[in-house]
Amino acid sequence: MLNLSNIEGLHDPGFELLLKAARKYCQEAPLASPPVEKPLSAALLPLLGEAEAPLGEGTTLGVRPFGESELSHLHYDEADTLNAEQIKKDFPVLQQQVNGHPLVWLDNGATTQKPHLVIDKISDYYTHYNSNIHRGAHTLAARATDAYEAAREKVQRFINAASSEEIIFVRGTTEGINLVAQTYGRQYCTVGDEIIVSELDHHANIVPWQRIAQERGCTLRAIPTDKNGDLILSELERLISPRTRIVSVGHVNNTFGTINDVQRIIQIAHQHNVPVLIDGAQSIAHTPVDVQQLGADFFVFSGHKIYGPNGIGVVYGRKQLLDKLQPWQGGGNMIKDVTIERTEYNVPPARFEAGTPNVADAIGLGAALDYVSHIGIRNIEAHEHRLTEYAREQLAQIPGLTLIGNPKQRVSVVSFVLDDIPVPEVGTLLDKEGIAVRAGHHCAQPALRALGYEMSVRPTFALYNTRDDVDRLVIAVRKIVGESRP
Ligand code: PMP
Repeated sequence: MLNLSNIEGLHDPGFELLLKAARKYCQEAPLASPPVEKPLSAALLPLLGEAEAPLGEGTTLGVRPFGESELSHLHYDEADTLNAEQIKKDFPVLQQQVNGHPLVWLDNGATTQKPHLVIDKISDYYTHYNSNIHRGAHTLAARATDAYEAAREKVQRFINAASSEEIIFVRGTTEGINLVAQTYGRQYCTVGDEIIVSELDHHANIVPWQRIAQERGCTLRAIPTDKNGDLILSELERLISPRTRIVSVGHVNNTFGTINDVQRIIQIAHQHNVPVLIDGAQSIAHTPVDVQQLGADFFVFSGHKIYGPNGIGVVYGRKQLLDKLQPWQGGGNMIKDVTIERTEYNVPPARFEAGTPNVADAIGLGAALDYVSHIGIRNIEAHEHRLTEYAREQLAQIPGLTLIGNPKQRVSVVSFVLDDIPVPEVGTLLDKEGIAVRAGHHCAQPALRALGYEMSVRPTFALYNTRDDVDRLVIAVRKIVGESRP
Protein backbone atom coordinates (compact mmCIF):
# COMPACT_ATOMS: atom_id res chain seq x y z
CA MET A 1 0.00 0.00 0.00
CA LEU A 2 1.13 3.52 -0.70
CA ASN A 3 0.49 5.79 2.24
CA LEU A 4 0.47 9.27 0.81
CA SER A 5 0.80 10.90 4.21
CA ASN A 6 4.28 9.42 4.50
CA ILE A 7 5.69 11.06 1.46
CA GLU A 8 4.37 14.58 1.68
CA GLY A 9 6.96 17.28 2.13
CA LEU A 10 9.81 15.54 0.38
CA HIS A 11 11.62 17.75 -2.05
CA ASP A 12 13.15 15.42 -4.58
CA PRO A 13 11.54 16.21 -7.93
CA GLY A 14 11.04 12.49 -8.35
CA PHE A 15 8.79 12.49 -5.32
CA GLU A 16 6.92 15.50 -6.55
CA LEU A 17 6.27 13.48 -9.63
CA LEU A 18 5.28 10.55 -7.50
CA LEU A 19 2.88 12.70 -5.52
CA LYS A 20 1.40 14.10 -8.68
CA ALA A 21 0.93 10.68 -10.16
CA ALA A 22 -0.44 9.32 -6.91
CA ARG A 23 -2.87 12.23 -6.59
CA LYS A 24 -4.05 11.66 -10.11
CA TYR A 25 -4.57 8.02 -9.38
CA CYS A 26 -6.43 8.79 -6.20
CA GLN A 27 -8.68 11.33 -8.00
CA GLU A 28 -7.16 14.30 -6.24
CA ALA A 29 -7.75 12.78 -2.83
CA PRO A 30 -6.59 15.08 -0.02
CA LEU A 31 -3.24 14.27 1.53
CA ALA A 32 -4.26 15.16 5.07
CA SER A 33 -5.39 12.55 7.51
CA PRO A 34 -7.03 10.17 7.30
CA PRO A 35 -4.23 8.93 5.01
CA VAL A 36 -5.26 7.83 1.60
CA GLU A 37 -4.28 4.31 0.96
CA LYS A 38 -4.56 2.64 -2.38
CA PRO A 39 -2.92 -0.48 -3.65
CA LEU A 40 -0.06 0.23 -6.05
CA SER A 41 -1.86 -1.08 -9.05
CA ALA A 42 -0.74 -1.68 -12.59
CA ALA A 43 -2.37 1.63 -13.51
CA LEU A 44 -0.11 3.60 -11.20
CA LEU A 45 3.16 1.76 -11.69
CA PRO A 46 3.94 3.00 -15.19
CA LEU A 47 3.62 6.54 -13.87
CA LEU A 48 5.90 5.89 -10.96
CA GLY A 49 8.61 3.90 -12.62
CA GLU A 50 9.94 0.89 -10.86
CA ALA A 51 9.94 0.84 -7.11
CA GLU A 52 13.40 -0.20 -6.02
CA ALA A 53 12.89 -0.45 -2.28
CA PRO A 54 9.89 -1.65 -0.35
CA LEU A 55 7.71 1.21 0.80
CA GLY A 56 7.54 1.82 4.50
CA GLU A 57 6.82 4.39 7.16
CA GLY A 58 9.11 7.36 6.86
CA THR A 59 11.06 6.10 3.88
CA THR A 60 11.81 8.22 0.92
CA LEU A 61 10.59 5.96 -1.75
CA GLY A 62 12.91 4.24 -4.17
CA VAL A 63 11.09 5.22 -7.27
CA ARG A 64 12.64 5.90 -10.61
CA PRO A 65 12.33 9.65 -10.66
CA PHE A 66 12.11 10.31 -14.35
CA GLY A 67 10.98 8.20 -17.24
CA GLU A 68 8.13 9.55 -19.33
CA SER A 69 7.80 12.36 -16.86
CA GLU A 70 6.65 15.93 -16.89
CA LEU A 71 10.23 16.77 -15.97
CA SER A 72 11.59 15.68 -19.30
CA HIS A 73 10.89 18.97 -21.01
CA LEU A 74 13.32 20.70 -18.65
CA HIS A 75 16.20 18.89 -20.23
CA TYR A 76 15.46 19.74 -23.83
CA ASP A 77 15.34 23.09 -25.57
CA GLU A 78 12.85 24.16 -28.22
CA ALA A 79 14.77 22.46 -31.01
CA ASP A 80 14.46 19.31 -28.92
CA THR A 81 18.18 19.06 -28.45
CA LEU A 82 19.71 18.52 -25.08
CA ASN A 83 19.56 21.66 -22.95
CA ALA A 84 22.91 21.69 -21.20
CA GLU A 85 22.24 25.02 -19.43
CA GLN A 86 19.23 23.47 -17.76
CA ILE A 87 21.01 20.20 -17.04
CA LYS A 88 23.87 22.06 -15.37
CA LYS A 89 21.40 23.23 -12.72
CA ASP A 90 21.01 19.62 -11.57
CA PHE A 91 24.66 19.59 -10.46
CA PRO A 92 25.27 21.51 -7.22
CA VAL A 93 29.05 21.53 -7.52
CA LEU A 94 28.84 23.40 -10.81
CA GLN A 95 27.03 26.31 -9.18
CA GLN A 96 30.16 27.75 -7.57
CA GLN A 97 32.84 30.29 -8.35
CA VAL A 98 36.46 29.17 -8.48
CA ASN A 99 39.15 31.83 -8.29
CA GLY A 100 36.52 34.50 -8.85
CA HIS A 101 34.98 32.88 -11.94
CA PRO A 102 32.01 30.55 -12.43
CA LEU A 103 33.45 27.05 -12.47
CA VAL A 104 33.86 25.44 -15.90
CA TRP A 105 34.35 21.73 -15.30
CA LEU A 106 36.24 20.22 -18.23
CA ASP A 107 37.93 17.43 -16.30
CA ASN A 108 35.19 14.92 -17.00
CA GLY A 109 37.64 12.33 -18.27
CA ALA A 110 39.06 12.18 -14.75
CA THR A 111 35.68 12.25 -13.04
CA THR A 112 32.18 13.59 -13.57
CA GLN A 113 30.11 15.66 -11.20
CA LYS A 114 27.03 14.24 -9.48
CA PRO A 115 23.44 15.43 -9.92
CA HIS A 116 21.23 16.19 -6.90
CA LEU A 117 19.39 13.00 -7.60
CA VAL A 118 22.46 10.84 -6.93
CA ILE A 119 23.52 12.80 -3.85
CA ASP A 120 19.98 12.61 -2.45
CA LYS A 121 19.74 8.88 -3.05
CA ILE A 122 22.90 8.26 -1.05
CA SER A 123 21.77 10.57 1.73
CA ASP A 124 18.37 8.88 1.71
CA TYR A 125 20.00 5.47 2.13
CA TYR A 126 22.05 6.56 5.15
CA THR A 127 19.14 8.53 6.61
CA HIS A 128 16.51 5.83 6.28
CA TYR A 129 17.65 2.32 5.60
CA ASN A 130 21.39 1.86 6.12
CA SER A 131 21.98 -1.80 6.82
CA ASN A 132 24.27 -4.62 5.91
CA ILE A 133 22.69 -6.75 3.23
CA HIS A 134 21.84 -10.40 2.58
CA ARG A 135 22.58 -11.53 6.10
CA GLY A 136 20.15 -9.52 8.18
CA ALA A 137 16.71 -10.88 8.83
CA HIS A 138 15.13 -7.51 9.60
CA THR A 139 13.27 -4.76 7.81
CA LEU A 140 16.16 -2.45 7.04
CA ALA A 141 18.33 -5.31 5.82
CA ALA A 142 15.57 -6.37 3.47
CA ARG A 143 15.15 -2.82 2.21
CA ALA A 144 18.87 -2.31 1.68
CA THR A 145 19.20 -5.68 -0.04
CA ASP A 146 16.31 -4.94 -2.40
CA ALA A 147 17.73 -1.54 -3.30
CA TYR A 148 21.22 -2.99 -3.86
CA GLU A 149 19.87 -5.75 -6.10
CA ALA A 150 17.65 -3.24 -7.93
CA ALA A 151 20.81 -1.24 -8.69
CA ARG A 152 22.39 -4.39 -10.11
CA GLU A 153 19.38 -4.80 -12.40
CA LYS A 154 19.68 -1.19 -13.52
CA VAL A 155 23.29 -1.85 -14.52
CA GLN A 156 22.21 -5.00 -16.31
CA ARG A 157 19.64 -3.07 -18.34
CA PHE A 158 21.98 -0.16 -19.02
CA ILE A 159 24.60 -2.34 -20.67
CA ASN A 160 22.10 -4.95 -21.87
CA ALA A 161 23.61 -7.90 -20.04
CA ALA A 162 21.60 -11.11 -20.33
CA SER A 163 21.22 -11.47 -16.57
CA SER A 164 21.87 -9.47 -13.41
CA GLU A 165 23.94 -12.45 -12.23
CA GLU A 166 26.55 -11.26 -14.71
CA ILE A 167 26.99 -7.96 -12.86
CA ILE A 168 29.62 -7.80 -10.11
CA PHE A 169 29.99 -4.66 -8.02
CA VAL A 170 33.59 -3.57 -7.39
CA ARG A 171 35.29 -0.31 -6.43
CA GLY A 172 35.92 0.83 -9.98
CA THR A 173 37.55 0.00 -13.29
CA THR A 174 40.97 -0.51 -11.74
CA GLU A 175 39.69 -2.99 -9.21
CA GLY A 176 37.57 -4.66 -11.89
CA ILE A 177 40.50 -5.29 -14.21
CA ASN A 178 42.58 -6.53 -11.28
CA LEU A 179 39.75 -8.88 -10.38
CA VAL A 180 39.71 -10.40 -13.87
CA ALA A 181 43.52 -10.50 -14.07
CA GLN A 182 43.77 -12.26 -10.74
CA THR A 183 40.97 -14.72 -11.34
CA TYR A 184 40.91 -15.47 -15.07
CA GLY A 185 44.62 -14.61 -15.50
CA ARG A 186 45.82 -16.79 -12.63
CA GLN A 187 43.56 -19.62 -13.66
CA TYR A 188 44.24 -19.77 -17.39
CA CYS A 189 47.66 -18.15 -18.07
CA THR A 190 50.74 -20.35 -17.73
CA VAL A 191 54.40 -20.21 -18.75
CA GLY A 192 54.81 -19.21 -22.39
CA ASP A 193 51.27 -17.87 -22.79
CA GLU A 194 50.48 -14.42 -24.12
CA ILE A 195 48.22 -11.57 -23.06
CA ILE A 196 47.30 -8.78 -25.47
CA VAL A 197 46.54 -5.19 -24.47
CA SER A 198 46.90 -2.04 -26.57
CA GLU A 199 49.20 0.93 -26.72
CA LEU A 200 46.20 3.20 -26.26
CA ASP A 201 45.30 1.70 -22.89
CA HIS A 202 45.15 3.36 -19.51
CA HIS A 203 47.73 2.13 -17.00
CA ALA A 204 44.83 0.37 -15.26
CA ASN A 205 44.64 -2.00 -18.23
CA ILE A 206 48.40 -2.47 -18.51
CA VAL A 207 49.85 -2.83 -15.01
CA PRO A 208 47.49 -5.58 -13.70
CA TRP A 209 48.25 -7.70 -16.79
CA GLN A 210 51.97 -6.96 -16.56
CA ARG A 211 51.94 -8.23 -13.00
CA ILE A 212 50.07 -11.42 -13.92
CA ALA A 213 52.39 -11.95 -16.89
CA GLN A 214 55.43 -11.67 -14.59
CA GLU A 215 53.88 -13.94 -12.00
CA ARG A 216 52.82 -16.62 -14.49
CA GLY A 217 55.78 -16.41 -16.89
CA CYS A 218 53.72 -14.99 -19.77
CA THR A 219 54.43 -12.30 -22.35
CA LEU A 220 52.46 -9.08 -22.59
CA ARG A 221 51.95 -7.78 -26.13
CA ALA A 222 50.31 -4.56 -27.27
CA ILE A 223 48.33 -3.64 -30.38
CA PRO A 224 50.18 -0.56 -31.68
CA THR A 225 48.63 2.79 -32.54
CA ASP A 226 49.22 4.94 -35.61
CA LYS A 227 50.09 8.64 -35.45
CA ASN A 228 46.42 9.67 -35.48
CA GLY A 229 45.73 7.68 -32.33
CA ASP A 230 43.92 4.81 -34.08
CA LEU A 231 44.81 1.21 -33.25
CA ILE A 232 46.37 -0.73 -36.13
CA LEU A 233 44.02 -3.69 -36.04
CA SER A 234 45.84 -5.63 -38.75
CA GLU A 235 48.59 -5.96 -36.11
CA LEU A 236 46.16 -7.79 -33.82
CA GLU A 237 45.82 -10.48 -36.49
CA ARG A 238 49.62 -10.80 -36.40
CA LEU A 239 49.92 -10.72 -32.58
CA ILE A 240 47.23 -13.22 -31.76
CA SER A 241 48.52 -16.79 -31.54
CA PRO A 242 47.56 -20.19 -30.15
CA ARG A 243 49.26 -19.02 -26.92
CA THR A 244 47.04 -15.94 -26.52
CA ARG A 245 44.88 -16.35 -23.41
CA ILE A 246 43.07 -13.01 -23.30
CA VAL A 247 42.77 -9.72 -25.18
CA SER A 248 42.10 -6.78 -22.85
CA VAL A 249 41.56 -3.37 -24.45
CA GLY A 250 39.98 -0.02 -23.81
CA HIS A 251 36.72 0.84 -25.54
CA VAL A 252 37.60 4.53 -25.64
CA ASN A 253 41.06 6.02 -25.16
CA ASN A 254 41.24 8.70 -22.47
CA THR A 255 43.86 10.94 -24.14
CA PHE A 256 42.74 11.28 -27.77
CA GLY A 257 39.16 10.06 -27.30
CA THR A 258 39.59 7.26 -29.87
CA ILE A 259 36.63 4.91 -30.05
CA ASN A 260 38.31 1.60 -30.72
CA ASP A 261 36.56 -0.82 -33.04
CA VAL A 262 36.01 -3.25 -30.19
CA GLN A 263 33.42 -5.18 -32.15
CA ARG A 264 36.11 -6.05 -34.70
CA ILE A 265 38.66 -6.80 -31.96
CA ILE A 266 36.20 -9.20 -30.33
CA GLN A 267 35.44 -10.82 -33.68
CA ILE A 268 39.14 -11.43 -34.38
CA ALA A 269 39.81 -12.73 -30.85
CA HIS A 270 36.78 -15.01 -30.90
CA GLN A 271 37.88 -16.53 -34.22
CA HIS A 272 40.84 -17.75 -32.16
CA ASN A 273 38.67 -18.71 -29.16
CA VAL A 274 40.26 -15.97 -27.08
CA PRO A 275 38.03 -14.06 -24.63
CA VAL A 276 38.04 -10.25 -24.56
CA LEU A 277 37.85 -7.77 -21.70
CA ILE A 278 36.69 -4.28 -22.61
CA ASP A 279 37.72 -1.40 -20.35
CA GLY A 280 34.65 0.81 -20.59
CA ALA A 281 35.79 3.55 -18.19
CA GLN A 282 35.74 6.20 -20.92
CA SER A 283 32.91 4.86 -23.05
CA ILE A 284 30.14 4.19 -20.57
CA ALA A 285 29.00 7.84 -20.24
CA HIS A 286 29.53 8.85 -23.85
CA THR A 287 28.34 6.18 -26.25
CA PRO A 288 25.77 3.36 -26.06
CA VAL A 289 27.08 0.07 -24.69
CA ASP A 290 25.45 -3.26 -25.45
CA VAL A 291 27.62 -6.07 -24.14
CA GLN A 292 25.62 -8.76 -25.91
CA GLN A 293 25.78 -7.01 -29.26
CA LEU A 294 29.51 -6.44 -28.78
CA GLY A 295 29.99 -10.04 -27.72
CA ALA A 296 32.24 -8.88 -24.84
CA ASP A 297 33.32 -11.52 -22.35
CA PHE A 298 34.12 -8.95 -19.67
CA PHE A 299 33.17 -5.27 -19.61
CA VAL A 300 34.40 -3.06 -16.78
CA PHE A 301 33.53 0.52 -15.80
CA SER A 302 33.57 3.03 -12.91
CA GLY A 303 30.50 4.74 -11.49
CA HIS A 304 32.25 8.06 -11.00
CA LYS A 305 32.80 8.48 -14.76
CA ILE A 306 29.04 8.40 -15.35
CA TYR A 307 27.72 10.90 -12.79
CA GLY A 308 27.67 8.23 -10.09
CA PRO A 309 29.58 8.02 -6.81
CA ASN A 310 33.26 7.29 -6.34
CA GLY A 311 34.18 3.87 -5.00
CA ILE A 312 31.68 1.86 -7.02
CA GLY A 313 32.21 0.15 -10.34
CA VAL A 314 31.13 -2.86 -12.32
CA VAL A 315 32.56 -6.00 -13.82
CA TYR A 316 30.25 -7.57 -16.35
CA GLY A 317 31.27 -11.16 -17.03
CA ARG A 318 29.57 -13.66 -19.31
CA LYS A 319 27.87 -16.20 -17.10
CA GLN A 320 29.55 -19.23 -18.66
CA LEU A 321 32.92 -17.67 -17.87
CA LEU A 322 32.07 -16.46 -14.37
CA ASP A 323 30.74 -19.88 -13.44
CA LYS A 324 34.16 -21.36 -14.15
CA LEU A 325 36.20 -18.75 -12.28
CA GLN A 326 37.57 -19.26 -8.82
CA PRO A 327 36.91 -16.44 -6.32
CA TRP A 328 39.24 -13.50 -5.99
CA GLN A 329 39.02 -12.40 -2.36
CA GLY A 330 37.82 -14.68 0.41
CA GLY A 331 35.47 -13.70 3.22
CA GLY A 332 31.82 -13.30 4.04
CA ASN A 333 29.09 -13.26 1.40
CA MET A 334 31.13 -15.20 -1.17
CA ILE A 335 30.58 -18.56 0.55
CA LYS A 336 27.85 -21.18 0.76
CA ASP A 337 29.32 -23.23 3.56
CA VAL A 338 32.51 -23.03 5.62
CA THR A 339 34.23 -25.53 7.87
CA ILE A 340 37.73 -25.15 9.25
CA GLU A 341 38.94 -27.57 6.58
CA ARG A 342 37.21 -26.30 3.45
CA THR A 343 34.84 -23.78 1.89
CA GLU A 344 32.05 -24.22 -0.60
CA TYR A 345 31.82 -21.03 -2.63
CA ASN A 346 28.73 -19.07 -3.53
CA VAL A 347 27.56 -18.69 -7.13
CA PRO A 348 28.38 -15.53 -9.11
CA PRO A 349 28.03 -12.64 -8.62
CA ALA A 350 28.21 -13.12 -4.82
CA ARG A 351 31.30 -15.33 -5.31
CA PHE A 352 33.19 -12.20 -6.37
CA GLU A 353 31.76 -9.80 -3.78
CA ALA A 354 33.52 -10.81 -0.56
CA GLY A 355 32.69 -8.74 2.51
CA THR A 356 30.23 -5.92 3.08
CA PRO A 357 29.54 -4.27 -0.26
CA ASN A 358 29.29 -0.57 -0.99
CA VAL A 359 25.50 -0.54 -0.80
CA ALA A 360 24.99 3.23 -0.75
CA ASP A 361 27.13 3.88 -3.79
CA ALA A 362 25.64 1.01 -5.77
CA ILE A 363 22.25 2.64 -5.17
CA GLY A 364 23.77 6.00 -6.15
CA LEU A 365 25.09 4.44 -9.35
CA GLY A 366 21.62 3.09 -10.11
CA ALA A 367 20.26 6.63 -9.77
CA ALA A 368 23.00 7.97 -12.05
CA LEU A 369 22.10 5.43 -14.72
CA ASP A 370 18.45 6.46 -14.40
CA TYR A 371 19.48 10.04 -14.91
CA VAL A 372 21.54 9.24 -18.00
CA SER A 373 18.79 7.00 -19.39
CA HIS A 374 16.28 9.75 -18.87
CA ILE A 375 18.35 12.19 -20.90
CA GLY A 376 19.31 9.50 -23.39
CA ILE A 377 22.83 8.34 -24.19
CA ARG A 378 22.31 9.04 -27.92
CA ASN A 379 21.34 12.64 -27.11
CA ILE A 380 24.36 12.95 -24.85
CA GLU A 381 26.62 11.55 -27.54
CA ALA A 382 25.29 13.98 -30.15
CA HIS A 383 25.59 16.96 -27.80
CA GLU A 384 29.14 16.10 -26.81
CA HIS A 385 30.09 15.49 -30.44
CA ARG A 386 28.91 18.99 -31.40
CA LEU A 387 30.82 20.53 -28.50
CA THR A 388 34.01 18.59 -29.25
CA GLU A 389 34.01 19.53 -32.93
CA TYR A 390 33.39 23.16 -32.01
CA ALA A 391 36.20 23.11 -29.43
CA ARG A 392 38.64 21.53 -31.90
CA GLU A 393 37.78 24.10 -34.58
CA GLN A 394 38.21 27.01 -32.19
CA LEU A 395 41.38 25.73 -30.54
CA ALA A 396 43.00 24.86 -33.88
CA GLN A 397 42.96 28.56 -34.79
CA ILE A 398 45.11 29.57 -31.83
CA PRO A 399 48.72 30.27 -32.86
CA GLY A 400 51.23 27.91 -31.25
CA LEU A 401 48.58 25.35 -30.29
CA THR A 402 48.92 21.78 -31.54
CA LEU A 403 46.02 19.37 -31.27
CA ILE A 404 47.22 15.85 -30.53
CA GLY A 405 45.58 12.82 -32.13
CA ASN A 406 43.02 12.75 -34.89
CA PRO A 407 41.29 9.39 -34.65
CA LYS A 408 38.57 8.36 -37.11
CA GLN A 409 35.93 8.12 -34.40
CA ARG A 410 36.18 9.82 -31.05
CA VAL A 411 34.26 10.89 -28.00
CA SER A 412 34.49 14.18 -26.16
CA VAL A 413 38.22 14.41 -25.50
CA VAL A 414 40.58 17.07 -26.82
CA SER A 415 44.34 16.96 -26.20
CA PHE A 416 46.70 19.79 -27.00
CA VAL A 417 50.04 21.39 -26.20
CA LEU A 418 51.21 24.99 -26.53
CA ASP A 419 54.57 26.01 -27.96
CA ASP A 420 57.00 27.07 -25.23
CA ILE A 421 54.49 26.84 -22.35
CA PRO A 422 54.83 23.71 -20.19
CA VAL A 423 51.68 21.62 -19.87
CA PRO A 424 51.39 21.87 -16.04
CA GLU A 425 51.64 25.67 -16.28
CA VAL A 426 48.76 25.76 -18.76
CA GLY A 427 46.69 23.74 -16.27
CA THR A 428 47.48 26.20 -13.48
CA LEU A 429 46.73 29.25 -15.62
CA LEU A 430 43.39 27.82 -16.73
CA ASP A 431 42.53 27.09 -13.10
CA LYS A 432 43.08 30.77 -12.33
CA GLU A 433 40.26 31.44 -14.81
CA GLY A 434 38.00 28.93 -13.05
CA ILE A 435 38.51 26.28 -15.74
CA ALA A 436 39.34 22.74 -14.60
CA VAL A 437 41.19 20.57 -17.14
CA ARG A 438 43.65 17.73 -16.85
CA ALA A 439 47.27 18.62 -17.57
CA GLY A 440 49.67 15.69 -17.41
CA HIS A 441 50.13 12.18 -18.77
CA HIS A 442 46.57 11.00 -17.99
CA CYS A 443 47.83 7.58 -16.79
CA ALA A 444 48.34 6.70 -20.45
CA GLN A 445 52.07 7.16 -20.99
CA PRO A 446 52.47 4.54 -23.75
CA ALA A 447 49.65 6.23 -25.73
CA LEU A 448 51.10 9.74 -25.47
CA ARG A 449 54.63 8.51 -26.16
CA ALA A 450 53.46 6.66 -29.27
CA LEU A 451 52.49 10.06 -30.66
CA GLY A 452 55.72 11.67 -29.46
CA TYR A 453 54.51 13.45 -26.31
CA GLU A 454 55.02 13.12 -22.58
CA MET A 455 52.07 15.25 -21.49
CA SER A 456 49.10 17.17 -22.81
CA VAL A 457 46.38 19.56 -21.74
CA ARG A 458 43.13 17.63 -21.88
CA PRO A 459 39.70 19.25 -21.72
CA THR A 460 36.92 16.65 -21.77
CA PHE A 461 33.23 17.41 -22.22
CA ALA A 462 30.13 16.01 -20.59
CA LEU A 463 26.38 16.42 -20.86
CA TYR A 464 26.32 19.60 -18.73
CA ASN A 465 28.97 21.46 -20.74
CA THR A 466 27.83 24.30 -22.97
CA ARG A 467 29.20 26.23 -25.94
CA ASP A 468 29.79 29.00 -23.45
CA ASP A 469 32.14 26.66 -21.51
CA VAL A 470 34.09 26.05 -24.73
CA ASP A 471 34.24 29.79 -25.45
CA ARG A 472 35.56 30.41 -21.93
CA LEU A 473 38.28 27.81 -22.51
CA VAL A 474 39.25 29.26 -25.90
CA ILE A 475 39.42 32.82 -24.55
CA ALA A 476 41.53 31.66 -21.60
CA VAL A 477 43.96 29.74 -23.84
CA ARG A 478 44.27 32.77 -26.13
CA LYS A 479 45.08 34.84 -23.08
CA ILE A 480 47.78 32.35 -22.04
CA VAL A 481 49.45 32.49 -25.45
CA GLY A 482 49.30 36.28 -25.25
CA GLU A 483 46.67 36.65 -27.92
CA SER A 484 43.78 38.86 -26.99
CA ARG A 485 41.80 38.32 -30.20
CA PRO A 486 38.47 36.75 -29.12
N1 PMP B 1 40.62 2.99 -17.87
C1 PMP B 1 40.46 4.18 -18.46
C2 PMP B 1 40.37 4.24 -19.96
C3 PMP B 1 40.35 5.34 -17.70
O1 PMP B 1 40.23 6.51 -18.27
C4 PMP B 1 40.41 5.22 -16.28
C5 PMP B 1 40.30 6.44 -15.39
N2 PMP B 1 41.04 7.53 -15.77
C6 PMP B 1 40.58 3.96 -15.72
C7 PMP B 1 40.68 2.87 -16.54
C8 PMP B 1 40.67 3.76 -14.25
O2 PMP B 1 39.45 4.07 -13.65
P1 PMP B 1 39.32 4.16 -12.06
O3 PMP B 1 40.42 5.10 -11.62
O4 PMP B 1 37.97 4.71 -11.83
O5 PMP B 1 39.51 2.80 -11.53
